[in-house]
Amino acid sequence: MSEKILEVKDLCKNYGKGSTLVKALDDVSFSVEEGEFVAIVGSSGSGKSTLLHILGAVDKPTSGKVIVGDVDVFKQKDDALAVFRRRKVGLIYQFYNLIPILNVEENMTLPILLDGKSVDKNYLKELIDILGLERRINHLPNELSGGQQQRVSIGRALISKPDIILADEPTGNLDSKASREIMDLLRLSNEKYGQTIIMITHDMNLAKTADRIITLEDGHIVKDEKIK
Ligand code: ADP
Ligand code: MG
Repeated sequence: MSEKILEVKDLCKNYGKGSTLVKALDDVSFSVEEGEFVAIVGSSGSGKSTLLHILGAVDKPTSGKVIVGDVDVFKQKDDALAVFRRRKVGLIYQFYNLIPILNVEENMTLPILLDGKSVDKNYLKELIDILGLERRINHLPNELSGGQQQRVSIGRALISKPDIILADEPTGNLDSKASREIMDLLRLSNEKYGQTIIMITHDMNLAKTADRIITLEDGHIVKDEKIK
């Protein structure tokens, strides 16, 4: 039996008010077990990014709860929430969000340094090898291909060994070969490190490589199916 790593309870997120009120998330509940690889699908505007941003604590819910491990995420004070963001969750975005003036190694280790901790050099080297970035560690982001930049952002997400990796269309900006490589890396981190992954995609072929597919429509979960 695996342990539950994430629990989302009655999550609501409203934007605007009155005639411009949008219920981006409307009473969303689900849980995820440690080591699961979950794909979130749904049409544009269905609330996928809103959900992922709340799971990553970069946005706050209007009501409802997110529990990661034994932490009630939004009950924490702001400083604890900042630490939670750096250590417990790793975010991967469609457009990588790397720091342009930092090289590959510096981008990857930034979360650790911001946390005032020292980098585990062996783990860093292992990640760099797995990501195939050995010969790029001193390169700046604009000297890398899109696929390489996304690999750096995966390394940055994995370096702090977070409980959960959250990825928003991580291959949305890549060609099919680079997309496959990124999916293989996410699957590898899931298998090798037992990493729990929640990934948004609009590509059903990619979604089908996950263990489970959650479908959002209009801020609701309309389907939640285990496929492995
Ligand atoms: P998805 O990622 O599935 O395309 P989003 O989570 O980005 O959907 O958006 C869900 C809904 O919330 C959409 O109707 C969108 O217009 C609205 N929304 C998202 N962010 C904001 C915001 N900052 N202000 C107002 N409305 C927003
Ligand atoms: Mg989105």
